[in-house]
Amino acid sequence: MRVSASPCPLGTHRVIEPAGVLPQAAWKLDATPVAHENEILCDVEALNVDSASFRQIVEVCDGDPARVAEHVLALVAQRGKHHNSVTGSGGMFIGTVREIGPALAAICDLRPGDRIASLVSLTLTPLHIEHIERIDMATGRVWITGTAILFASSIYAKLPSDVPDAVSLAVLDVAGAPAQVARLVQPGATVAVLGADGKSGVLACAQARTRVGPSGRVVGFGPDADSAGARFLRDAGYVDAFVAVDCRDVPAMLASFPDVLPMLADVTINCVNCAGTELSSILATKDDGTVYFFSMSTSFTAAALGAEGVGKDVTMIVGNGYAKNHAAIALATLRERPALMDYFVTRYGSAAAH
Ligand code: NAP
Repeated sequence: MRVSASPCPLGTHRVIEPAGVLPQAAWKLDATPVAHENEILCDVEALNVDSASFRQIVEVCDGDPARVAEHVLALVAQRGKHHNSVTGSGGMFIGTVREIGPALAAICDLRPGDRIASLVSLTLTPLHIEHIERIDMATGRVWITGTAILFASSIYAKLPSDVPDAVSLAVLDVAGAPAQVARLVQPGATVAVLGADGKSGVLACAQARTRVGPSGRVVGFGPDADSAGARFLRDAGYVDAFVAVDCRDVPAMLASFPDVLPMLADVTINCVNCAGTELSSILATKDDGTVYFFSMSTSFTAAALGAEGVGKDVTMIVGNGYAKNHAAIALATLRERPALMDYFVTRYGSAAAH
């Protein structure tokens, strides 16, 4: 199907069904790889599938990479975008600009051949996959031959030359987390980070450590005290304590608080990639504190009714993936911390990284 003759800056002309919604809410998009007059056509090299989405796909495919590839192909063929119907989340892509529609060419700072990372979700990005080259099961990275369309309203970042592409892909997908931490955390504060040893969790801890200063406290929670991320967080001094715990296990979380969070947290950042950790986040936070739910597995009802049920007056923030300058802040978080850059390069910098 071809795109309509009236391209909308928000991409509504690409919506196939249901009529009248924006691309993110659509069930199906037209991913025809032709740039309309105010669109950018990109050759896609790799997808960073959202962690909650990738985890769900891996689970239904019993961890079999071939089945994961089939699943991703079928999903994108069905919906014209990588929009996981179970988790509702997507991810982002890196690729090369192939063509810029004439209405955008004069006003955007891109040229054909520029290498970019999309900073809008795959849940609203028309995506066409010809074939999947390979999948890194450890990181949720999917290398493809395919195309994507960016709308006039879509945001992107030119890939930096001083950071490996695979690291940019990993970091820019979660760029909202360190940017929001820098905004929310005050000097001297106590910060709890759930899912601390993943991509967004490590970036959040690094930012929090700097923001709280010597009189503040950062506590990480995650399933494995011996994971690469947990060891790095301790070695780098980004956490004052790391608690090995399943954050869905509320009694276990509560049992840890007297030791590591005696006064509870001023700010709690939820970076887990599984459902069921809303109450732990709320209980870790003091009255009048703030919970930032970056996790895509967050349930509004579980958070709202959970807080009410335990009588906690906390401010709960939906993890808007966009914050002003978030890409620059996320990359600066790495550049200003050579040890953190090394960690990301080692862990996420290549196809074989684990
Ligand atoms: P990630 O690198 O996979 O990290 C997820 C972390 O959660 C891992 O450290 C994981 O530990 C931990 N975890 C899993 N189950 C846990 C449990 N039961 N208790 C405690 N920790 C647990 O993921 P990411 O890329 O940082 O993304 C984190 C979350 O942010 C995901 O939900 C993702 O969907 C979401 N996200 C949101 C936005 C946004 O715009 N708001 C953008 C991108 C991603 P193990 O590795 O040991 O299992």
